[in-house]
Amino acid sequence: DRAPGDRALGDLVTGDGTAGGHAMVELRGVHKSFGPLHVLRGVDLTVEQGQVTVILGPSGSGKSTLLRTINHLEKVDRGSVRVGGRLLGYRQVGDRLHELSEREILRQRTQIGFVFQSFNLFPHLTVRQNLTEAPLSAQRRPRAEAEALAARLLERVGLADKADAYPRTLSGGQQQRVAIARALALEPALVLFDEPTSALDPELVGEVLEVMKDLARSGTTMIVVTHEIGFAREVADTVVFMDAGLVVESGPPAQVLDDPRHERTRAFIGKVL
Ligand code: ADP
Ligand code: MG
Repeated sequence: DRAPGDRALGDLVTGDGTAGGHAMVELRGVHKSFGPLHVLRGVDLTVEQGQVTVILGPSGSGKSTLLRTINHLEKVDRGSVRVGGRLLGYRQVGDRLHELSEREILRQRTQIGFVFQSFNLFPHLTVRQNLTEAPLSAQRRPRAEAEALAARLLERVGLADKADAYPRTLSGGQQQRVAIARALALEPALVLFDEPTSALDPELVGEVLEVMKDLARSGTTMIVVTHEIGFAREVADTVVFMDAGLVVESGPPAQVLDDPRHERTRAFIGKVL
């Protein structure tokens, strides 16, 4: 099976798939405030292509804001965000930086999939239409091609028989699997997940995590904010613990989860386990 990133890398990664020798995602000294609230206070983060990074941390520590800076839903106040070696929101011409237009930013954003806690499916569209909408409108792909891709993705998330259903007729777990398939429909180079199982009844969490594990195994670059420690342990290449707008520590799951260096990490993991 082809990793969803393979084709889409266009802008983000050079032809040889190496992200131009750069990490897929690189944040350096990122600061972000909302009015007086200093939410990100100098975040550094590196995610290599094909790797799975799980971000843990207490509510309000800035995890969602961090994800939103990576696809430019939030503009940073200070520091840099690079995706595939490129500075997000800018084009470099010689040694000068030009800010991209809103339209160009939207185009850049289509190469980054985003899966939200609350599914956010289009309620008035069928499952198939949810998956083909962006490829048809944003990428102007031929309908037959978009529908064939939708069929493959629905197969992949185990929902081939739901193509003509409307979201409200599906369970939460099924809706989130559709949302994941939809995020993959633009064949993104990178997929961000913001607490994808937090809104689900406990018995539906497993089916969504299985789909995410399958993606991880196929080499998709993923950044996942979740409290699912088991998923982190099994799937993550790197676990990042955030608190109060800073990365407190990061490393392989066994190190961060079982032998954390910082008391704050230890206390948090003790609470969610
Ligand atoms: P987490 O995802 O770790 O729970 P968030 O990134 O959602 O944390 O939020 C961090 C802090 O920033 C919270 O105090 C939240 O209320 C605040 N915040 C997030 N987005 C905004 C916004 N658009 N305007 C004002 N405050 C915000
Ligand atoms: Mg959040």
